[in-house]
Amino acid sequence: MGIHAAGTTDVGCVRKHNEDSFLADSTLGLFVVADGLGGHAAGEVASRIVVDTVARFVGETMEKDRTWPVEYDPSLSYDGNRLKVALLLSDQAIAEDIRRNPERETMGSTVVAGLFNGPKLTLAHVGDSRAYILGADGIRQVTRDHSWVAEQVANGILTPSEARVHPFRNVITQALGNGGELEVEIQNLELSISERLLLCSDGLSGMIGDKQIWDIVEQAPDLQQAVDSLISAAREHGGEDNITAILVSWESEEA
Ligand code: CA
Repeated sequence: MGIHAAGTTDVGCVRKHNEDSFLADSTLGLFVVADGLGGHAAGEVASRIVVDTVARFVGETMEKDRTWPVEYDPSLSYDGNRLKVALLLSDQAIAEDIRRNPERETMGSTVVAGLFNGPKLTLAHVGDSRAYILGADGIRQVTRDHSWVAEQVANGILTPSEARVHPFRNVITQALGNGGELEVEIQNLELSISERLLLCSDGLSGMIGDKQIWDIVEQAPDLQQAVDSLISAAREHGGEDNITAILVSWESEEA
């Protein structure tokens, strides 16, 4: 197979619990970062529900002959439908868990998920967990945060550097499990051989800037050491939140 990946999560330097969860499954071609919200151990339950639900549904839909559980969206690819439904099912699964465990009523989760079919990449996200693509000539963020500050930047009210330090920078505008109407964003991309996909929680992107992320990945000898160095750098810059990073590359044949 042509997919290589490395992923790590770290509690950071301040929090007592790690509420992030991740999955890196090169066989399924599925990579997921979920950042749980809610505290009191509920956030980690929510992010685990998301990762497990997405993995199960994507695993069950490898063959196209499965009965589709909700209305199929013809404007999306098959993999786009798989990820969209996987996120909608995750949203329902968190809500169902809250009905059984009312003490977790404030829990929810962000998610960013990437699904590969060869070099073709389908991305889905809700909230402020991010996907970046890194190439020889730089790094670009390919998800737009569902956050209050990202909306202000899009409307020209805040600059990106003002957004990074704004007191409302952690306010997200949608999350899985919060009971609101969900707008799952789906994108179709293709990863070239020289490129890397990075999925991360805001504990990484909030602590170190895009340029530093790119420098670290460029200088690392392999994906695992790149991920480890990203986590270390986020910790050195305060480690104020849980930190999760997955790096993925695609190669047409084994070296
Ligand atoms: Ca976080």
